[in-house]
Amino acid sequence: MAITERLQNTTEVGYWTGEIPLEYIYTFGRAGERYFRTLKDKGVFVGARCERCEITYVPPRTYCERCFERLEDNFVEVPSTGTVHTFTVLYKNLDGSEKDQPAVMAMIRLDGTDGGVVHYLGEVEPEQVEIGMAVKAVLKPKKDRKGGITDIKYFKPL
Ligand SMILES: [Zn+2]
Repeated sequence: MAITERLQNTTEVGYWTGEIPLEYIYTFGRAGERYFRTLKDKGVFVGARCERCEITYVPPRTYCERCFERLEDNFVEVPSTGTVHTFTVLYKNLDGSEKDQPAVMAMIRLDGTDGGVVHYLGEVEPEQVEIGMAVKAVLKPKKDRKGGITDIKYFKPL
């Protein structure tokens, strides 16, 4: 096969397989910094409210993505309760090995907001989980919080 022909099967040409180890640092940014600091210090979620668009962003944003209004002065505390918007059941670890027990990962829409959190569900069996299920965040004790997403242990059914 000439290299200029359109590939239909990538293994028909010369190739090698490999892995690329990846390490990265992802900064929170100003809005994310406030979000995680408030979660760590007060155990409360923060959103950013655009009154013009009637949208509450969670996680918060510095600007409204619809009208470009500056939102940094409109950060608001939002409930730690919400509903399961969607979910999936995990049977394998990142390295492909089997999990000891299946885990449930869900997108949780926080009450009164237009955003939410992707996190584990706990204190519930996978077959009991439903879209629309009411849940509440369970945080680590304040002394163990580090200002990151792992400050949330999981969300549990109400
Ligand atoms: Zn707006």
